[in-house]
Amino acid sequence: MSGLSEFSLIKHYFEKISTPRSDVLLGIGDDCAIVQADTNQQIAISVDTLVEGVHFLPNADPENLGHKSLAVSLSDLAAIGATPAWFTLALTLPEVKEPWLAGFAKGLATLAKQHQIALIGGDTTRGPLSITIQVNGFVKSEQALRRDGAHVGDNIYVSGTVGDAGAGLKLKQNQLLAQQDKQLQEAFLQQRLDKPTPKVDLGRDLRGIANSAIDISDGLVADLSHILEKSQVGADIELEALPVSSALADTVSREHAEQLALYAGDDYELCFTAPPEKHAELRKIKDSYTKIGTITGNPNKMVFYRGGQQIELTGKGYEHFSIED
Ligand code: ADP
Ligand code: MG
Repeated sequence: MSGLSEFSLIKHYFEKISTPRSDVLLGIGDDCAIVQADTNQQIAISVDTLVEGVHFLPNADPENLGHKSLAVSLSDLAAIGATPAWFTLALTLPEVKEPWLAGFAKGLATLAKQHQIALIGGDTTRGPLSITIQVNGFVKSEQALRRDGAHVGDNIYVSGTVGDAGAGLKLKQNQLLAQQDKQLQEAFLQQRLDKPTPKVDLGRDLRGIANSAIDISDGLVADLSHILEKSQVGADIELEALPVSSALADTVSREHAEQLALYAGDDYELCFTAPPEKHAELRKIKDSYTKIGTITGNPNKMVFYRGGQQIELTGKGYEHFSIED
């Protein structure tokens, strides 16, 4: 193991990540971690695995990877409206490369600190590169933002902008031609793919306002359809309302941007529904969000409009677009 044992690796790179928290009674270094649960709150738990070649490209920048591994799990806590508390890390490494570990630990530690989430334990094994993070957060009883709470008449909102990470991936895979005078826009789109920002504050602010929420990991249509299915409702979506960043708008046509916004994943924005009477409360929230449609009574049916006119989408997503677009 190039002179670094598993124990010293953990001690050197991961013990210091641990954000101090008074509710961690026993952290990294024993057989189990012990935490003090707050009896007034419920605990939200989620786990995600990222595998090299499946969820990220081989030779991905380790610092971005450290960030993204935690960001995708924090995004699940955000989507249910939970406050991050603790996480564990199961790391499978083909070999011990210290510069890689240092970069990975830095990306992880920086985001962990921002959200006051403590690394309390994990496992380290040898094998093909794979990263599993399990997060735990707090949510007050009955306040979780679930997928099954959408009501007919709710407005449908999406936070920030969507489609950026999808365009970033296409750029990375050379499926979108890099344009000479668009370096800044392209850097922004790649950043959105590599270092997503989990909307933890927004999720927390939506407690008591939103009837349902989900984070956008697989694409707006795919993720919103989970809300429709769990809530047994439908959705009318206005395509012209889809929030697209200026970087994306500068890089592809409006129609292509809409396709990316609808079908590409990895943006880690929140899609949520709230009744019209919550409008004033929603306006106090500092994160940006856009109304893109309304919840209807047709179970599992998503209907798309452009300028009020109903339109048919092929459902094939962005695949049919040429690389010149
Ligand atoms: P055990 O053999 O009891 O499973 P390990 O040798 O796997 O113990 O781990 C020793 C300690 O280091 C444990 O507290 C474990 O939670 C922690 N640990 C192991 N790998 C990691 C990691 N990648 N990140 C954080 N903590 C880790
Ligand atoms: Mg172990």
